[in-house]
Amino acid sequence: MKIHEYQAKELFKQYGIKVPESVLCEKKEDIEQIIKNFSVPCVIKAQVHSGARGKAGGVKIAKDYQNALKYADEILGMELVSSQAGAKKVNKILIEQAVDIDKELYLSLTFDRANEAISLIISSNGGMDIEETAKTSPEKIYTELIKDNFNPLETVKKIGFNDSINGQIINIINSLYTLAKEKDALLVEINPLVVTKQGEVIALDAKINFDDNALFRHDDILALKDEAEENPYELQAQKDGLNYIKLDGTIGCMVNGAGLAMATMDIIRLAGKNAANFLDVGGGASSEKIEKAFKLLISDKNLEAVFINIFGGILRCDFLAQGVKNAIQSLNINIPVIVRMEGTNKQEGADILNHSGLKFTVVNDLNEAIEVIKKI
Ligand code: GDP
Ligand code: MN
Repeated sequence: MKIHEYQAKELFKQYGIKVPESVLCEKKEDIEQIIKNFSVPCVIKAQVHSGARGKAGGVKIAKDYQNALKYADEILGMELVSSQAGAKKVNKILIEQAVDIDKELYLSLTFDRANEAISLIISSNGGMDIEETAKTSPEKIYTELIKDNFNPLETVKKIGFNDSINGQIINIINSLYTLAKEKDALLVEINPLVVTKQGEVIALDAKINFDDNALFRHDDILALKDEAEENPYELQAQKDGLNYIKLDGTIGCMVNGAGLAMATMDIIRLAGKNAANFLDVGGGASSEKIEKAFKLLISDKNLEAVFINIFGGILRCDFLAQGVKNAIQSLNINIPVIVRMEGTNKQEGADILNHSGLKFTVVNDLNEAIEVIKKI
């Protein structure tokens, strides 16, 4: 799960990391009042779940009140098109005290599964062109695994600052590490982490991604979820307890079991098409859950067909058939629905579909499924 910069900065403050003073603004009519009580120069920052906002016109430095009003009015409500997240409507802006920047650094901690450790990435060449630096001068970016023999001072010394600044950076690394551990973050990133002309080290940007599978133990983090930023289909799936990921293809698929779901996506590919989604309805799904899953699937406007591939083990084929039949009856669907069922109560399931008065293409095996999908 992602959160906004302003929320991440609140967490940073709780962990003792310095951030500039700021106020969040969500309504056009509040802009004037907030800016009147703020000092200039200030920075107006679009709050959307995306990086590269600066390059997309979502971060602007205002030297005086007039410009602050103008930029705030422009950015709040704008459609921000970034290289990282496509088009996003800006529903919130952060109005932030500008800082006198001497140097922009990059600092992040990521969860490195292969090495079973948190990995630190640091560079004195931070800022908006970090991706470019990674390509052209990778030697300026240091990566270090935080394991038993990790010595932050040795790493920080490599980027060449004085003792006072090094000390501040080490404190920030320690705080970020504690935050990542305590809140189950997969990524905490500060870009830029700036050294000011006054010699202070401050986080000007803040990005945190949390481990979805650990959210059950962090109600405070879950409360930060901004539903407007989530994919609406995936949000509905979470509410219905389904494992669903939206994809770009045109063949909707409903499968039980993650392995079979992935194999099904391969089959669709073999037939020359692409899956519109990943959907694992799980082992013990009831016909009500199947109906919900089917309705979710079919709400995707790009579909050419639906392919249902179920291996009835714990999930009974008759439950599946009943759920699909109910969903189709209430939805008025006119795209082909291809069904392959195998396993428990296969015959009962086939009977329900065949006597439903609805049109299904029931296939006996996956080769047959490929042939049918090819013809769509
Ligand atoms: P991003 O493009 O989404 O990563 O947004 P950032 O929050 O990183 O802002 C983009 C850039 O704006 C930063 O790299 C800074 O160069 C600049 N910036 C942000 N805040 C300030 C500030 O207070 N003063 C100055 N001079 N520049 C700032
Ligand atoms: Mn940034």
